[in-house]
Amino acid sequence: MRPTITDARHLDSQDPLADFKANFALPEGVLYLDGNSLGAQPRAARDALDATRDQWRDALVGGWNQGWFDAPERLGDLLVPLIGARAGEVLVSDSITLNLFKLLGYITERQGGERRVILSEGGNFPADGYIAEGFCRTAGFEHRFLPEGAPLEAHLDGQVAVVVLSQVNYRTGQLRDMADTTRRIHASGAEVIWDLAHSAGALAVDLAGSDARYAVGCTYKYLNGGPGAPGFLYVRSDCQQAGWQPLSGWHGHAQPFAFDADYAPAAGMTRFRTGTHSALAYAPLEASLRLWQQVDMAALRAKSLALVDFFRACIKDLFETHGIEDITPPPAQRGSQVSLVQREHGYGIVQALIERGVIGDYREPGLMRFGFTPLYLSHVDVWQAAEQFREVVESAEYRDPRFQTRTEVT
Ligand SMILES: *Cc1c(COP(=O)(O)O)cnc(C)c1O
Repeated sequence: MRPTITDARHLDSQDPLADFKANFALPEGVLYLDGNSLGAQPRAARDALDATRDQWRDALVGGWNQGWFDAPERLGDLLVPLIGARAGEVLVSDSITLNLFKLLGYITERQGGERRVILSEGGNFPADGYIAEGFCRTAGFEHRFLPEGAPLEAHLDGQVAVVVLSQVNYRTGQLRDMADTTRRIHASGAEVIWDLAHSAGALAVDLAGSDARYAVGCTYKYLNGGPGAPGFLYVRSDCQQAGWQPLSGWHGHAQPFAFDADYAPAAGMTRFRTGTHSALAYAPLEASLRLWQQVDMAALRAKSLALVDFFRACIKDLFETHGIEDITPPPAQRGSQVSLVQREHGYGIVQALIERGVIGDYREPGLMRFGFTPLYLSHVDVWQAAEQFREVVESAEYRDPRFQTRTEVT
């Protein structure tokens, strides 16, 4: 039996996170299932931006001593409870792309350079492979791909220095067992950098409990920091004591305002800073992370699993007749998204849904991706989105030529 709107209302009445929705400013008539690409705007973000704009006007350069300068460390500590780190182990800075480069340089320098291979995974968001390749060209290392689904051990020879892995795959939503994978990689003598792009804010990440030493992530997806919000990096405290990272910028210097000619890395995570950061970009992120401090991560995970299953239950009768393959992993192995493949019409279906105010996204080849963000989605929202999906698929309106044109950003 297909769930009804009464079922949806009943589930919402029992939802411990229901009140969080009021903290987000979503446009009227929009059902937003793309929080895995760009999170919705927390209402407090707007005030935070306004306050920072006024601070710039009134305090001028003095603003740097009023919370702008130490934002990377302060916001890093706000991420601690969300990703299972400890205070002083997280820095909010730059982007995943730059942070991966910094960590590859830092780790390989610590290792002494005998191992010369960086392994990144095929089928991952390509940014990570691109930067691994760029690092290898610069540093004289060799880049190899771990084919999607291939057993890790077969590729962990004595040459592998660092493995770059996503905890949750951006396409399929597949969740890796972080503790087990970390143990196996460490046992081979290599290090692993975890990419948390699709897990931070999507589920309770447990870096310390997984014995993870290094990780990177972004804050504009599930963490609602805003378009282009700064990324973060994590280095476990016992791995912080020595070494340079290759983007040895002046803000990562032990005494940036001594203006020494020679570089000396700062203690702790501060060495992973580069140059002057955007104080404006940190403001909405801080507002969002303050909201996140109130979130019970176990409740978040339970609701994420429930929303994903509810959406699929509402539409699963359509799959076979319309050539749709549901590749969403089972609960224990998934992030917070639904992944449906329709090779021929997937793009058109997503475009038709967007016109109806149901925003998901499309990834080649044939993948329709729907992100489920428990802080601002209710079961009623999900039920309504499923009804729209049904109408689009049953009417075949996705065949209309206006749904076939590609935009610059998809
Ligand atoms: C979103 C995402 C990125 C994006 O990197 P940026 O430097 O923030 O542009 C990188 N890796 C993965 C796995 C992602 O999902």
